[in-house]
Amino acid sequence: MSPPQVQVGDHVDSLDTPSMIVDLDLCEANIKKLMDRLLPTGLNIRPHLKTTKSAILAKKLAKAGAKGGCVAKVSEAEVIAAAGFDDLLITCEIIGPAKVKRLVELYRKYPKIRIVVDSEVGASAINQALIDSGIKEPITVLIDLDVGLHRTGVKPGEPAMALAHHIAELKQLNLIGVQGYEGHLQHLHDKEDRRTQCLESMRILTSTADAFRAAGFKIDVVTTGGTGTAEFCATVPGVTELQPGSFIFMDTDYRNAVGTFYSNSLTLISTVISKQGPQAVTIDTGLKSLTTDSGLAECKDSRYAYGVLGDEHGSLSWESSTPDLAIGDRVEMIPSHIDPTVNLHDFYYAHRQGVIEEIWPVDSRGKVQ
Ligand code: PLP
Ligand code: MN
Repeated sequence: MSPPQVQVGDHVDSLDTPSMIVDLDLCEANIKKLMDRLLPTGLNIRPHLKTTKSAILAKKLAKAGAKGGCVAKVSEAEVIAAAGFDDLLITCEIIGPAKVKRLVELYRKYPKIRIVVDSEVGASAINQALIDSGIKEPITVLIDLDVGLHRTGVKPGEPAMALAHHIAELKQLNLIGVQGYEGHLQHLHDKEDRRTQCLESMRILTSTADAFRAAGFKIDVVTTGGTGTAEFCATVPGVTELQPGSFIFMDTDYRNAVGTFYSNSLTLISTVISKQGPQAVTIDTGLKSLTTDSGLAECKDSRYAYGVLGDEHGSLSWESSTPDLAIGDRVEMIPSHIDPTVNLHDFYYAHRQGVIEEIWPVDSRGKVQ
């Protein structure tokens, strides 16, 4: 798919709307802040690409010091690897014959792919599919551990140990580490609370890794963390790898929770398409371009309050002392939750002071399988 009729060098004013634009100065500053904060710890930074869904951005992150990336799903890995970035950890469980078959074909082409498992049945199915495929090299596997999110992950203690022993019997799986994602803590507003609870999750994670080592398993990778917790995870001996994603663009939900250390670098340009009262207009941006699961998006100019008017429409309203908006005016909206919002768009228009410098496809848009 090619982008609509705009080119590098054009001004963002010439973009049709709604369009996702990225302020390159802010985006690059976010990457630098993360790397300056975390690279000196010596830990591996493996950013989660579920946020950007972009191989170009994966490569920019790697240039800044990241090693590899995470994706959530097999279908995302297919697209990002085909776009030239194949050092990927797939962080969701791969269950069911159709998905396992896709994994095998992906692994045949891209042997660097890493996966997680949290069940004996899941591990055995992948092992059997690899045996049937004739591929000789075992796939690199991490045990996904529940460190308190209660979403996926084998429970710590005996269940985790039983799974490690089970995997050791499976010749096509090579166990190298543990993943424990504390997603329930990322948005905790109280920093001290976030830190304390994160350290408890890290205790579960690193003590499980230690128990595996004591039982004779070679555990080299202990991977964890998101934008809200990475700085705390990085202080814990035994953690080897961090997986933050949202820091690159941020969103209002994250900003409200963890503050403005990282800036909102991505906005949506929208157009006022109808006047609906002296202090109310309708813009061309509704549920199909901005998600609402984490609250409403905000207008970058905070004097204008946003409301949803349906799939294609949103409202902006303002106080009488605020300058009026008129039909044809353009505004910038800050998403409330970046990952699902990005998934609604085909391209990013990356600009510096309004001049488009790069156009990035959202490579794995819609890749939910
Ligand atoms: N790791 C895993 C397994 C995730 O699911 C996510 C996000 O949902 C992340 C890392 C990145 O977290 P964040 O976007 O909060 O930085
Ligand atoms: Mn998210």
